[in-house]
Amino acid sequence: MDFQLNARQQEFQLSARRFAQEELPEVARHCERTSEPVPDDVRRRMGELGFLGVNIPEEYGGVGAGKLDALLVLEEFAKISAAVAFPVFEANCGPAQTLLYFAPEWLKKQVLPKVCAGEMMVSVSMSEPDVGTAMTDLTTRAVIKDGRIIINGVKRWCSGAGHAQGYVLYCRLADKPGAAGVGAVYFEKDTPGVSFGKPEQFMGARGFHNAEIYLDDVEVPVENIIVPAGGLKNLMRSFNMERLGNATCSLGIAASALEVALRYTQERTQFGKPLVDFQAVQLRLAEMKMDVEASRLLIHRAAQNAEDGLPSLLDTSLAKCFANEAVRRVVTHGAQVMGACGYSTAYPMEQKMRDAWLWGIGGGHIDLQKVNITSELVGRRFSQR
Ligand SMILES: Cc1cc2nc3c(=O)[nH]c(=O)nc-3n(C[C@H](O)[C@H](O)[C@H](O)COP(=O)(O)OP(=O)(O)OC[C@H]3O[C@@H](n4cnc5c(N)ncnc54)[C@H](O)[C@@H]3O)c2cc1C
Repeated sequence: MDFQLNARQQEFQLSARRFAQEELPEVARHCERTSEPVPDDVRRRMGELGFLGVNIPEEYGGVGAGKLDALLVLEEFAKISAAVAFPVFEANCGPAQTLLYFAPEWLKKQVLPKVCAGEMMVSVSMSEPDVGTAMTDLTTRAVIKDGRIIINGVKRWCSGAGHAQGYVLYCRLADKPGAAGVGAVYFEKDTPGVSFGKPEQFMGARGFHNAEIYLDDVEVPVENIIVPAGGLKNLMRSFNMERLGNATCSLGIAASALEVALRYTQERTQFGKPLVDFQAVQLRLAEMKMDVEASRLLIHRAAQNAEDGLPSLLDTSLAKCFANEAVRRVVTHGAQVMGACGYSTAYPMEQKMRDAWLWGIGGGHIDLQKVNITSELVGRRFSQR
């Protein structure tokens, strides 16, 4: 493995950093204050500058670069806030990648160029009121009849709900129990029968615009099938890229928390010397740095190993689980060394603490990643029943 970024990757990283630092802090404050998503004009600007769809081929409107390039961009955005990173996450790692790998050609040609240009967003809708981790138990039904699909069900926690134009819907596409019946369908928000609940109020991730989706006899053509029934394994393979994006958001928050803590502990003095001169503070900063660097290495290794395909389950679970747990440790140390200023909403650490918690829940929680890791170690899948 090459530990150096090549010239192109350094360029992506620098241009994303410059844009994020210059143009996104005010947007992040707006999202935090209002819980509204990144405004459409800002998302379009992200698209114009090539930050959306970094790893989507040029024929679909993307930049045609690699997975690591895409994650480098995402990390820089996540350093500002989870909300401003969200459109990049959805395009470079999330549902747009599921479309890229599995959707029929016409759908890719119709949707991906708009996603890359920032003209629209695509969300993923998997969770239901009674189905979180147990993806094989999905109840939302999509019945195929006379060349049409009729969808009925309730989805929950969907990020971007009502704001995104397109949705990758995980649902029961055949009358078979368990994974055999699960597939994915694409629908758009203005299709008759689609409606949305009130936005959820979360501890952090303000600006994700999460809500329930109600699907009441929603009709789409059969051509909107992304993955047919029995394709949950494929969906989960593309979801590994989403999980690397999730890990990268953890990394971005952790790296920026370290920067904030480093600055603060060198400026603030107690007993006539900077906080950083106290050994207890030094140890905390060192632990933060170890967590940031180890997260980054695991994520970059997973991305590099996957340049010609999708990330492996083991690489992904190691990176996601480690980065998700690491960011919680990092922000906890960060808040501690900043004293009351770590707890105050007037300083950036408390938002980072709230944003940090999400990633170990969403996209397959940390406990599931540990089950995956041990499954890979022993060479067999464990029954979850
Ligand atoms: C901010 C945010 C954004 C989200 N965005 C989306 C989105 O865009 N689209 C979408 O579909 N969903 C989204 N979700 C939902 C998210 O995917 C689910 O929260 C997640 O899959 C876990 O499901 P659950 O919350 O129902 O937890 P449950 O499945 O009820 O699990 C709760 C806990 O039980 C334990 N547990 C459960 N099952 C197992 C197991 N098999 N092995 C070991 N431990 C287990 C774990 O500790 C787990 O944390 C989002 C959630 C949040 C908080």
